[in-house]
Amino acid sequence: MRKIIFDLDNTLIMHKEKYLKYYVKALEEFGYDANMDEAKKLYKSIGDYEKICNQYDYDGLMTFVNADLGTNYDVKLLERLNYYIGEYWYEMDEDAIAIIEYLANKYELYVLTNWFGFVAEKRLAKAGVLKYFKEVVGGDKVPTKPQKESFLYFTKDCDVSECLMIGDSVETDYVGATNVQMPVILYDYKNIYDDSYRRINSLIELKKIL
Ligand SMILES: [Mg+2]
Repeated sequence: MRKIIFDLDNTLIMHKEKYLKYYVKALEEFGYDANMDEAKKLYKSIGDYEKICNQYDYDGLMTFVNADLGTNYDVKLLERLNYYIGEYWYEMDEDAIAIIEYLANKYELYVLTNWFGFVAEKRLAKAGVLKYFKEVVGGDKVPTKPQKESFLYFTKDCDVSECLMIGDSVETDYVGATNVQMPVILYDYKNIYDDSYRRINSLIELKKIL
């Protein structure tokens, strides 16, 4: 094994309900209806775009969201959201930090996220761990997971068997990696899947495996 490729959201950085207050704040700043309900709708719609888009881009995303929600949001809202996400969505559990430090001594570490790469980099920097990663690859640079191209980005200079994907999503991380024969571990932090998946319930278990 040479490369360990981590998903970011709900793998290295867990989503917290309180983070949505920054969606409310951004909506407020642009003079739109701003409350938790609107924030949740926007968050869900942005997530839904992931399922149908080839890559993340501001214009495509904004068009989708406005059609989906019947809104007329300006594309600058997304830039504002990304500013807040980068600035505030970075709380990383001690286990995640410990496992990153441990693995960085033995492997090349990467992040493969479907969201914008520069935002992921900022969050990892704020969490104090960006220095451990060789590259952070976002869905604005490569096609989004589970498309094959996103995983094959890492196999340009090594065999697919030398890579390991670790992520919480069966649909994007697990199936996507499996489709290109890339070894994969499901981060089943809710402990809801069965052992037909190669899975862990806590990141610290990786110390025993890797
Ligand atoms: Mg995830």
